[in-house]
Amino acid sequence: MSDVWTIKAALDWTVGYLERKGDENPRISAQWLLSEATGLSRIELYANFDQPLSLDERDVLRGFVARRGAGEPLQYITGEVGFRHITVQVRPGVLIPRPETEVLVSEALSLLPPAPKRVAADAWAEEALEGGAAVPDPADDTASEDAPDAQVPAPELLVADLCTGSGCIACSIAFEHPLAHVVATDIVPEAVALASDNARALGLDDRVEVLAGDLGECVPSCMIGALDLVVSNPPYVPTAVLADIPREVADFEPELALDGGSDGLDVLRRLLPWCGAALKPGGAFAFELHEGHLDEAAALAREAGFQDVRIVHDLAQRPRVLTARKADACS
Ligand code: GLN
Repeated sequence: MSDVWTIKAALDWTVGYLERKGDENPRISAQWLLSEATGLSRIELYANFDQPLSLDERDVLRGFVARRGAGEPLQYITGEVGFRHITVQVRPGVLIPRPETEVLVSEALSLLPPAPKRVAADAWAEEALEGGAAVPDPADDTASEDAPDAQVPAPELLVADLCTGSGCIACSIAFEHPLAHVVATDIVPEAVALASDNARALGLDDRVEVLAGDLGECVPSCMIGALDLVVSNPPYVPTAVLADIPREVADFEPELALDGGSDGLDVLRRLLPWCGAALKPGGAFAFELHEGHLDEAAALAREAGFQDVRIVHDLAQRPRVLTARKADACS
């Protein structure tokens, strides 16, 4: 390797090294690591192939490449991951958000009443003032049709996200539903700290409250019986399956966030009675579970008295999410 290390040379060297170390996507890893080391976007890397790396950038890149070569997940090295419409920070000790959990959030959101147009428009306008979203067209004056409703403040929707981890679910729900107030809990201090940091970094800490505790034990008692939605991605990998998971997961991600007991449903058995008490009549839950146990989980939910029990498939067409409603007071 010559004294000058251009972006192209660094990229080629990193791809070759990671390939030899058994990385399944060496080029993608190399792009992300180089991008993180230089502060350039992945596109900018290709536009600046001849640019030399500074000595500091070389050192940083070498450290990253050694970690990736030892099998550490890319997201722990870059420190962040895209999740639906937001980017969340991730750190060792806390589970990395997965694409299937984006499906869980879709389903959870679909169980909430939609935000009235006026509230949604206000949220857009606020974001636009901060330089974010496009402002809705003022000529499209559909809001005036809603004027009588708009005078009554829309009620907040109460959501609990149990085993929040990075907070990706809680933050996405608050980001995508302007009326959602989310209490996010986790038993692991690193997760509580990370979820709080994510809520703050996304400007959602007024609507995402992160609390330390086991499942629902720390949810304020005034919310019990009043929740509109309970959502959770609990540890659900059956213990026997855990023995065979890829080393990249087993060696680096927290076992506590994965191990769901012999059939993967240990936590579900605790969640169901809690939801029975904590949801308001007509409130709903959405849980991510292990693909091999959704039928059993649905049967447990029905036995516990829940209605509209549904199994939803993930993007890989595997059964993944269980949703249901608590009976309405008058049904
Ligand atoms: N989807 C994760 C995996 O397969 C499991 C997450 C969990 O147990 N909540 O690695």
